Amino acid sequence: TRFDDYKLSVEIKRSLRILKYEAPTEVQSKVIPLALEKHDLVVKSQTGSGKTASFGIPLCEMIEWEEKSPQAIILTPTRELAAQVREDITNIGRFKRLKAMAVYGKEPFTKQKEELKQKTHVVVGTPGRVLDHIERGTLVLDKIKYLIIDEADEMLNMGFIDEVEAIINELPLNRVTMVFSATLPKDVENLCYKYMENPINVEI
Ligand code: AMP
Repeated sequence: TRFDDYKLSVEIKRSLRILKYEAPTEVQSKVIPLALEKHDLVVKSQTGSGKTASFGIPLCEMIEWEEKSPQAIILTPTRELAAQVREDITNIGRFKRLKAMAVYGKEPFTKQKEELKQKTHVVVGTPGRVLDHIERGTLVLDKIKYLIIDEADEMLNMGFIDEVEAIINELPLNRVTMVFSATLPKDVENLCYKYMENPINVEI
């Protein structure tokens, strides 16, 4: 199969052509159809497998351009990954004119606050700074429909569990949650069990 055969909008297909993504990788062929049906997913996959686009493509497809408040939050363990994921989402959502923003520490809070006042569809960030914006009321959550936890095992290894749980507890219940992790240790499984609804397990 090729992306041309997928039920995706012309805008998304056009950006995939420009990115030279012709055929889905294994993780993408498994995750994209399930994500488009709005299933909660726990995906065991490594970096380099194309996992970013496996959530980026359905996310960009489902996000509504008209809505002004953020619709998706993507949590990453590091600033570098947040910047990379933001860039990938921007590229995939280019022809839908989707705005993705990265929020992480070590960058002025006020600058991010001003940017968050503009229309933003997707917020990608590290747990500490995302929580900071939530607590200070600069990140509006009422329109969040998608939560993606990327490299969950790394995130919990780095000690972010309290921040991650605090963020999840502020999100609307009516949402889709996807967890990506290279390994599935007990603490990741517990997190999934606690906050997801009948998630489908995807193993590559
Ligand atoms: P990731 O696992 O998300 O870090 O992606 C690894 C690399 O594969 C990145 O450089 C992507 O741009 C690239 N990539 C992702 N999906 C595809 C695809 N379907 N076809 C070709 N390259 C891809």
